[in-house]
Amino acid sequence: MNLIILGAPGSGKGTQTTRLKAKLNIPAISTGDIFRKEIKEETELGKRIKKYLDSGQLVPDEIVIDVIKERIKQPDCKNGFILDGFPRTLEQAKALDKIVKIDACINLSVPKEIIVKRLSARRTCKNCGEIYNLLVLKPKVDGVCDKCGGPLFQRDDDRESVIEERFRVYERQTEPLLKYYESRVPVITVTCNSVDAPPELITEQIINGLKRLKLID
Ligand code: AMP
Repeated sequence: MNLIILGAPGSGKGTQTTRLKAKLNIPAISTGDIFRKEIKEETELGKRIKKYLDSGQLVPDEIVIDVIKERIKQPDCKNGFILDGFPRTLEQAKALDKIVKIDACINLSVPKEIIVKRLSARRTCKNCGEIYNLLVLKPKVDGVCDKCGGPLFQRDDDRESVIEERFRVYERQTEPLLKYYESRVPVITVTCNSVDAPPELITEQIINGLKRLKLID
């Protein structure tokens, strides 16, 4: 089962894909996570893309498409995958269509005010990448990951000035993708209208949508 998850930055894509991969037993692939790792390890690719992430701009299509092509060739993707943060442009969506068939698209619909509040409160574990939120998904001990004990940090691009720019980029380049997928694959839209909606409720609605489409039992 090949799934993609669409939604603005901070709509909960990362949180939901982490939960879904455990339930569906397929890997979650986040281009943002791949890029942050490359930057942290100061690889050639990391050096080329750092400026885009720092400013909230998109990494050029040809770079992202190559990264995804390589990643979904890996053996762990043989039964499917969930793509989080890819595609983000029409060009990327068309390139993806040439490589694999997408079975469904999950669309997280969250109003902008909620997103800005959420992103400013997001914290990520430096070791394992687990995502927390100081409003709704607090760690048991301040600043410490529940799962691995690693330190929590705030992503540089989760500061208010960059959040605004990421949102603008999303509206301009990624939102139109919804129409593209609506005319091609089943779309499961889940709406979240409150800052403190429990993530497990959203997961349940996605799972129910996948059941209705008979993609899972
Ligand atoms: P994310 O973790 O998905 O919010 O991504 C963080 C940043 O990585 C984005 O603001 C972009 O700079 C870059 N990025 C991630 N995925 C893509 C993509 N599919 N296309 C272009 N840039 C991307």
